[in-house]
Amino acid sequence: MSAAPTMPVINPRTGTADYSIAPLNGDQIEALAAKLRAAQPAWAAKTPEERSVVLRALGDALERHRAALIAALTDDTGRAAISKIEVDAMAKTFHRWADSAPGLIAAAQVTDRQTAIPTITTSTRLVPYQLLGVISPWNFPLTLALIDAIPALAAGCAVIVKPSEVTPRFIKPLMAAIAEVPEAAAVLALIEGDGATGAALIGHVDFIAFTGSVATGRKVGEAAARAFIPASLELGGKDPMIVLASADPDKAADTALRASVLNTGQACQSLERIYVARDIAGPFLEALVAKAKAARLNYPDVHQGEIGPFIFARQAEIVQRQLDDAVTKGATILAGGTVETLGGGKYLRPTVLTNVTDDMAVMAEETFGPVIPVTVFDSVDEAVALANSGVFGLSASVFAGTTAEAEAVGMRLNAGGVSINDGSLTGLVWEAEKSSFGQSGLGPSRMGDSGLLRFFRKQALIRQSGTALPLAAYSEEALGG
Ligand code: NAD
Repeated sequence: MSAAPTMPVINPRTGTADYSIAPLNGDQIEALAAKLRAAQPAWAAKTPEERSVVLRALGDALERHRAALIAALTDDTGRAAISKIEVDAMAKTFHRWADSAPGLIAAAQVTDRQTAIPTITTSTRLVPYQLLGVISPWNFPLTLALIDAIPALAAGCAVIVKPSEVTPRFIKPLMAAIAEVPEAAAVLALIEGDGATGAALIGHVDFIAFTGSVATGRKVGEAAARAFIPASLELGGKDPMIVLASADPDKAADTALRASVLNTGQACQSLERIYVARDIAGPFLEALVAKAKAARLNYPDVHQGEIGPFIFARQAEIVQRQLDDAVTKGATILAGGTVETLGGGKYLRPTVLTNVTDDMAVMAEETFGPVIPVTVFDSVDEAVALANSGVFGLSASVFAGTTAEAEAVGMRLNAGGVSINDGSLTGLVWEAEKSSFGQSGLGPSRMGDSGLLRFFRKQALIRQSGTALPLAAYSEEALGG
């Protein structure tokens, strides 16, 4: 078995390679999968309550390693405050699933249900998939490495996580935290590697949970189909926001800005298209541009400002290309517009665009940057049609004077999660089950109860308490055929 060569990792604030990873090869993944499979039956044999004790211990271990995790995530992503939020939220997530899993599992199991046949009763057992593979992206490295892994552990699965090669620094401190909880360390592993490592992982697991781009998601879905395993695909979006005439333009502008540029727009649930009613378009745009211009980069001090560098320099190139294409085709830039290189990092100030058309890449493709294209509409029907255009259907937002008015429009949108009088709430609220519509994904909801229950197969125990019928009972004579 020979180790793969190491791979350099670029620091998003300096543009230099200051870290490296050693991607696992296929043999190493196979050996790891065998080790976890050997430990999984004992894990699955524990009661849900016993597993919850271990999950709580993992949450506490994360808290003990909080400083190292935050430091690593800050180096991975170039932003500090959201790194803190990630660590604290994931520590809480271990506790949240520990609290809810036993009840959910008990409620989903059926014992002794009478069937239509008087002598037959059934029970349904939940049998976890043995080994889950997780492949995660770089935009929220810790959150997306663990968001599916935690409920899968609660279900009794073993888990191998392959985070993005762009943001791998948090893997070592996370493994150090996991190592302090030996029962968890036996069934939870993180591996370093790139796309090839991810592709190899699919062949060794029983379920693959992928978060990333549509292009890679399609490859993962195809590979999972060949391996004959289920794939949960959480992919990209081009989320629209509709601002109705009854909305307060200033409040709507606050939300439009925050939900578009938070995390430098590098969030699947970022708003990427704004449709505003003509009646309030003037004050809305004026407020949005003023607020966009007031946002500060977190450069040179990582602890100040709102906008971090692009985590992945290639993303800055994609965003600049989309902006250049839009301007060439007639768009007007009202704020921002040009990627700046500062200290080796790539930054873009919140960029507001008008005069945009559907033939521009910035209106059709995922941007994944702090870019806010604004289109004015004349009727609600027109706004709904514009919002529903395109191949994605991840999430959306509607802002109006009342909840009822916003909700009535929201129900007409082709998206799995709709924020009412707010934006990007799907990144904050984890209780609401939602499907990804269109090319934004496939598979059961990762949010809400199904976030856990999707990791079980169902086994029916069908009990005969009477006399099992002999073949003669089905004879032509007996059945009068
Ligand atoms: P990506 O698709 O480039 O990479 C994601 C992961 O897939 C990485 O770990 C990568 O190493 C791995 N990978 C690459 N090729 C592979 C292959 N052939 N087989 C298996 N694995 C492979 O995505 P990214 O650029 O890291 O992340 C950004 C994307 O993620 C955006 O499109 C964003 O919308 C999406 N995203 C979606 C959600 C969601 O919940 N829907 C959340 C966050 C991010």
